[in-house]
Amino acid sequence: MLASDENLGHLETQAAQDVQPLLREAVQRGAQAKADASPPVCPVCGHKLSRLSSGHARTFETRFGSITIQRTRGYCKRCGKWRVPADAALGLEETAGYSPAVQEMAALLASKMPVEEASVVLEHLTGIKVPRATLDREARRQGQRAQRLRTQLDEQTRRGASDKKPLELTLEPYQMIIQLDAWNIRERDNWGKSAALRRAGKEPERWHWVYTGTCFRLDQRSQTAGGRPVISRRGFVATRQGLDGLREQMHAEALRRGLGQAASALVIGDGAVWIWRLADDRFPQARQRLDFYHAVQHLVAVGRALFGQDKEKLQAWLKPLIKQLKNESSVKVIRQLEEALAGLAAGPSAESVTKEVNYFHEHHSRMDYRAGRRAGEPIGSGPVEATCRQTQCRFKRPGQFWSSQGDEALLCLEMLWRNGRWHLLFPHTSALNPARN
Ligand SMILES: [Zn+2]
Repeated sequence: MLASDENLGHLETQAAQDVQPLLREAVQRGAQAKADASPPVCPVCGHKLSRLSSGHARTFETRFGSITIQRTRGYCKRCGKWRVPADAALGLEETAGYSPAVQEMAALLASKMPVEEASVVLEHLTGIKVPRATLDREARRQGQRAQRLRTQLDEQTRRGASDKKPLELTLEPYQMIIQLDAWNIRERDNWGKSAALRRAGKEPERWHWVYTGTCFRLDQRSQTAGGRPVISRRGFVATRQGLDGLREQMHAEALRRGLGQAASALVIGDGAVWIWRLADDRFPQARQRLDFYHAVQHLVAVGRALFGQDKEKLQAWLKPLIKQLKNESSVKVIRQLEEALAGLAAGPSAESVTKEVNYFHEHHSRMDYRAGRRAGEPIGSGPVEATCRQTQCRFKRPGQFWSSQGDEALLCLEMLWRNGRWHLLFPHTSALNPARN
């Protein structure tokens, strides 16, 4: 019975506490049975183990409390190492004594929030105590596993794409949209050497680029009742491994999302030169489009040079040009910019307008906004910018520093989660979310 000042929450907490010992016992019994059934062969090379001895007890932390398992140990002559086959069968190798479910929770929480919070949240929600340092180490280990998995998946994808197998039957031809962007991450390169670096007059922190991309099939984009575009299936890439890393990861992700069967592809990005170089290099068949809002920013720059601080004049000049750029042609817009330039006397204003006119000439073929809108294609890189913002929230908290290895591992975990491939790293979760991709 609930007391007068207790509610359903008290009931839930009580019920969970009541069944906890039963669950723990069930897990321990099942784990022991699996351990007993593990054949005495080396989990690494498959060689038969010798000098077997049983009764090696070890305690593991599970989501229902700690369990102790008796295991058999044997020597692998081929590897020249002592092996415990039960640990491999139960997914308990290389762990600091935590079960796969706890390993997964540590990885998930650490990829979503700072480690000190993750440790507290984990204990609050589940009662499992994982000290901060252990949780950090465990999350990094899982991140490194995630990176190995990513490499393996990307290689498989590339091999599969080069196999001459019959194309999958696609009923409607579709387009593949690829959007690329980048943002900065603050990072401390030389852990523990900050004081020495400062004495030498160097700042220990630096900014590094995180390259981000997203891809989706145009036919998988639809609208909410409110008219907001939603994309049902989308691939994500975020990496600290430079443009080479992005190029290869993005290509593999696009292949997994159906690039090979796409009727055509379109790369959208802001004006950054690396985007078009990467597109020419890895997606040579794809059309290229400059993000509409970046183009507008360049119109605004011309307007500022022409009208200075006169906001009303600027707006009156800008509005029809933006409309033309969106609904008519960039050629018309460029002609007007050139006319405006012709009316300017030589000086700093003319210089900056000249720069912008050149910019529009350079990207003119990437400003097919009218055709794009008619074809129902996106004209902006909104989705990839949203992805950047979300990831930044996690990685750009005040006072947060990362090492290059640590943040690549965490980025990799985060992308695995977003791409709906978490179950590949933690197979026990595949039963939880069958609907995810
Ligand atoms: Zn072996």
